[in-house]
Amino acid sequence: MRRRERLAALEQIANEVRDCTGCRLHEGRTRAVPGEGDPDTEVVFVGEGPGMNEDREGRPFVGRAGGLLVRLLGSIGWQREDVFITNVVKCRPPDNRDPQPDEIAACAPFLRRQLAVLDPAVVVTLGRYSMGTFMPGARIGQVHGTARPADPETGARDALVFAMYHPAAALRTASIERESFEDVARVPETLVRARERRAATGPEAAAPPAPAAGPASEPASTTATSSPGLVPADPAADDASQLTLF
Ligand code: URA
Repeated sequence: MRRRERLAALEQIANEVRDCTGCRLHEGRTRAVPGEGDPDTEVVFVGEGPGMNEDREGRPFVGRAGGLLVRLLGSIGWQREDVFITNVVKCRPPDNRDPQPDEIAACAPFLRRQLAVLDPAVVVTLGRYSMGTFMPGARIGQVHGTARPADPETGARDALVFAMYHPAAALRTASIERESFEDVARVPETLVRARERRAATGPEAAAPPAPAAGPASEPASTTATSSPGLVPADPAADDASQLTLF
């Protein structure tokens, strides 16, 4: 799918989200929050559900948790515009309570369709409820900072899922914040691995190899300068933070 087609497909989904009355959460919303980001990205971040600020603005992660997410991305040289950011539920649960299983189930087709359109190489889950969608039965304390292949039933047909704590949890607990910075430092190497898997198994397997990737064991600090989905038009004008080369 080309960028224009992806954009149109994502906008179609977003319009359906805005009109959705599929569960009780629509009753209390100011604005639905479909998600946003680069339609050509290789990396999708999936949070839990909109909070008060997101409900007001109709955009994901624009409050304090969003501020930390932006800092986490910045620590690996990425910007929020480089990735796609969405949630398992697209309308704010009242009083920021946890989303309930039937609400997650009602909203799941939207996330599935977004992932099918975006076809990311990596899905980063933020928090327990997002992790539960992609790693059923896993415990966040055990799997944060690790990746496993996504079940194609999630809509991500050939992706690695990488689990992280929710930024709101990191805001509450200093040790979780520290671990979150350590975890996010592993995302670029996870992207390298995901690209390699896709190159070996996907339709591009027969195509010329992608730009050389550093070894997955390389320290995260040396791989952190790559942005997903950013391919500078003029290589002479590159700066390190925009290279897709590792
Ligand atoms: N928390 C989430 O899980 N998602 C948002 O969009 C904002 C805060």
